[in-house]
Amino acid sequence: MYYNENTVIFLDGKFIKENETSNSLYSQTLHYGYGAFEGIRSYETINGCRLFKPDEHYQRLKKSCELVGIPFNYSVDQLTTLTYELLEMNGLTNAYIRPLVFCDPNMSLTKPNNVSLMICAWEWGAYLGDKQLRLSLSSFCRPHPRSMKIEAKICGHYINSILATTEAKEKGFDEALLLDSDGFLAEGPGANLFFEKNGKLFTPQTGNILPGITRSTVLELAREKGIDVEIGHFTLTDLTNADHAFYCGTAAEIVGIESLDEFVFPTSWENSLAKQLSAMYSALVYEKIPLETSKC
Ligand code: PMP
Repeated sequence: MYYNENTVIFLDGKFIKENETSNSLYSQTLHYGYGAFEGIRSYETINGCRLFKPDEHYQRLKKSCELVGIPFNYSVDQLTTLTYELLEMNGLTNAYIRPLVFCDPNMSLTKPNNVSLMICAWEWGAYLGDKQLRLSLSSFCRPHPRSMKIEAKICGHYINSILATTEAKEKGFDEALLLDSDGFLAEGPGANLFFEKNGKLFTPQTGNILPGITRSTVLELAREKGIDVEIGHFTLTDLTNADHAFYCGTAAEIVGIESLDEFVFPTSWENSLAKQLSAMYSALVYEKIPLETSKC
């Protein structure tokens, strides 16, 4: 699904066939989850193939590395150019791009001297599907911000996400909702949470969540549309008093939430702010406004 015998990836300065790579089994990333990654989308827009917010994603990748002491020297411009080249080589336009910074062999718990960069891409539909989600409250909480650099997108953090999603799916739900370690609403395993009440939007503040690029985009779109937004600490009761809720993220885009365990949100997707924001998001990523020429 992610690659075939023709797939080209970028690895350490070269574009090579995926099936010609070999990497050390002694990487700190493999053993300890000590690596950083991104998830970016490209869209076949009316102006050609475009990465959505590449600067924000590659700045976050650099910041993630910096926060945990992983040396990583590529510039945002270099990374963006390489990504467009990779898409072109693989004949991809509507794609999901996964850059991964992984560490050299080192079995000790110290910072690496050298790292590798891998960028791969594949076609990926909406990560959480296009149906309204049935969520279950997770028995796991998001990592405490004093145990991790929570604002960094670090490989090891995703064990928490995998545990939460697996638990929800094993109970027959689509996805999990996680609280923070103080019991306030946090986020999904791979997406940020918004909820709506009386025409107003609410979303958890940063500090215990990944500050999503889609979350920022939704905040920009809400501002543009004149929708009031409150960012803060919210409780489960706030959520179950809401009219509607949605998740957002690069892979998931904007997806409505139908229910949380036995609680069903009273407002349908059709009548939600989420639907309006989703249409605006789509117009934005597909550049429905004429811009310059195609890049790939
Ligand atoms: N929270 C978590 C835990 C995530 O993994 C993601 C996906 N990167 C998000 C939120 C959404 O972030 P973004 O909008 O930048 O993709």
